[in-house]
Amino acid sequence: MSGLQSKLDTSIEFLKGVGPFRADILKKELELFTFGDLLYHFPFRYVDRSRFYKVKELRSEDQMVQLRGRIDRFELLGSGRQQRLKAVFSDESGRLELIWFKGASWVQKSIEPGREYIIFGKINRYKGKLNMPHPEVAALTGKEKAEGRLQPIYSTTEKCRSKGLDSRGIEKLLKTLLEELSPADIPETLPEYLLKKYRLLNRWDALQLIHRPLRAADHLAAIRRLKFEELFFHQLKILRLKNRRNLETKGYVFDRALPLFTRFYKEVIPFELTGAQKRVLKEIRKDTLSGHQMNRLLQGDVGSGKTMVAFMAMLMAIDNSYQACLMAPTEILATQHFHAIKKYAGPLGLGVELLTGSSKAAQRKKLLEALRQGEIQILIGTHALIEDPVIFKNLGMVVIDEQHRFGVAQRARLWEKSAKNPPHVLVMTATPIPRTLAMTVFGDLDVSVIDELPPGRKPVTTVHMTDSDRLRIFGFMKKEISAGRQVYVVYPLISESEKLDYKDLEDGYESICRAFPKPEYQVSIVHGRMKAEDKEWEMQRFVRGESQIMVATTVIEVGVDVPNASVMVIESAERFGLAQLHQLRGRVGRGADKSYCILVSKHKLSSDARLRIKTMTSSNDGFHIAQVDMELRGPGAFDSTRQSGHVQFRIADIQKDMPILLEARKSAAAIMKNDPLLEKEEHRVLRKAIISKRSGFNEWARIL
Ligand code: ADP
Ligand code: MG
Repeated sequence: MSGLQSKLDTSIEFLKGVGPFRADILKKELELFTFGDLLYHFPFRYVDRSRFYKVKELRSEDQMVQLRGRIDRFELLGSGRQQRLKAVFSDESGRLELIWFKGASWVQKSIEPGREYIIFGKINRYKGKLNMPHPEVAALTGKEKAEGRLQPIYSTTEKCRSKGLDSRGIEKLLKTLLEELSPADIPETLPEYLLKKYRLLNRWDALQLIHRPLRAADHLAAIRRLKFEELFFHQLKILRLKNRRNLETKGYVFDRALPLFTRFYKEVIPFELTGAQKRVLKEIRKDTLSGHQMNRLLQGDVGSGKTMVAFMAMLMAIDNSYQACLMAPTEILATQHFHAIKKYAGPLGLGVELLTGSSKAAQRKKLLEALRQGEIQILIGTHALIEDPVIFKNLGMVVIDEQHRFGVAQRARLWEKSAKNPPHVLVMTATPIPRTLAMTVFGDLDVSVIDELPPGRKPVTTVHMTDSDRLRIFGFMKKEISAGRQVYVVYPLISESEKLDYKDLEDGYESICRAFPKPEYQVSIVHGRMKAEDKEWEMQRFVRGESQIMVATTVIEVGVDVPNASVMVIESAERFGLAQLHQLRGRVGRGADKSYCILVSKHKLSSDARLRIKTMTSSNDGFHIAQVDMELRGPGAFDSTRQSGHVQFRIADIQKDMPILLEARKSAAAIMKNDPLLEKEEHRVLRKAIISKRSGFNEWARIL
């Protein structure tokens, strides 16, 4: 380390067998620039070369196997995008169909019919018969038997392959590299006591064994060490940033007595706060007394009482002579919040105003002036809040609802609205973010969770029905309506421009109007193509109970609060994502009555759609649902993470590596406690390791 450049920083072209030409390809195609990059280009799996399976031994699907035999009888089926190539693989024991959905001509060119090959791949079952889609095919070299080991498989590209840099080629380069390196080139980066505590391999051994496992379980220990390393340094980095921000930026201190807050708590709220609500309020109180800016993510299932908590957080600001604002993603939602908060704030005599895109010019002018003068204590609105003319006298608390709908730049602008210090920020989301994601992607935010519903909520009964059950569904709706309840019927709207979606909605609306005729029934309809005031009028009709049925697109997804509604019918449920289904279901079950959610789909479903619907009918737990959602779609599918260009790990998998992540996080936090910026001499190695790491990490709080 002594100031000398590490050997790992050597440019890849200087590795024996690489040279400038291949180096260029490795850089462009795989982003491998140095020895170190290559060393950290890990296998994504291993082939068990210690045995060959026989066709007749194959039983289960999803088994990864290696077989040895002949390939022949190529057959090209279908045409265009439907085209596929089939071939028959055979060994002494039987035959197995191989299938390729693309690259047919390349496959046919590279395989010589009748010759012996080793194939490797995953067994699949189609119409009761086993086959192997897209096998890896390698010509038999005669040396196979001798190998008898786990062979690492590396990701590579078509272009690399054509220059001899297929998985085998990369394996060879790594062999050369590992022979060239000595333990001194790969110094340990983790503290000794952590290696002991978690029984981790040292870095040198881990890097050897991940690429060249000697025995069966070697690679597992190597993988664990390297996952730990990756997650640990990522956590150190996040925590260091967070600490630095806390040291550098000041936050407003809300240290006055809280007369409004106390009066509201003691005299106004008609119910007792839940334990979770009280706990979160304490956390917010502590943040706002700390002298640092609060950056808190408030997660809680729909109906868990986040808005109440947000309002009381606003009261803390107002009691300290600051203003507060609440920003919501849609006009309907902003309006709902406005009514709810006005109701809460009314008895306290506070000035609460609403600002949206459809606020009239004259009214807007008056409002903006009052805001500048500090006559308005709480401003609620949509994106309109972040426009230039909106100037606060002294903004101290910002609440952002459904944060995943806001772009990063928009949040940054809200930040700038505060004169001296950045305002405290509370982000509320009803889309539960799985804990692993929260700790990695949003790791620099503090997270509060409301994990308790107000008492008396009954879980919503969810059932799955198909289009042919329509009459039964109508019958059930009639029964509920005659008992005084109200019903939502929601249609998917994938995009505003989809004519087809509107047609579904309109057809549905017509058939409901026929089945529920006036004057006995009143049916409301709300969708994105209506004027804001028409939408509002229809909504209010439903809120007041004048209409019994609300036919809508997903515009009602967030926030609408009609406690008397007890049935949610979701049409074409197979077209919705899990998060959306859960949000929609959260619109019912808010009152005292037993509530129902009916998922209507067509008869035939994809396996993903089936799993989504099954998850909904079997669980009411938002966190469980979010977890399944993440497993189905991958972490990148979460809007918020997509926006942030979510963290890409080399080897860690935040879906599966929760236990390692927890250990890594705990270890990192313990170190940072005594040395918030890693400045002590004994942490020099750690500091160096996080500074040198390339990473896609985003500082969330800075832009919130
Ligand atoms: P969220 O914003 O989390 O969806 P809200 O704050 O809108 O939830 O609360 C949902 C409903 O529950 C509201 O009608 C609210 O007045 C009510 N509520 C909130 N907290 C409690 C509580 N502790 N006890 C009973 N009802 C509550
Ligand atoms: Mg809400």
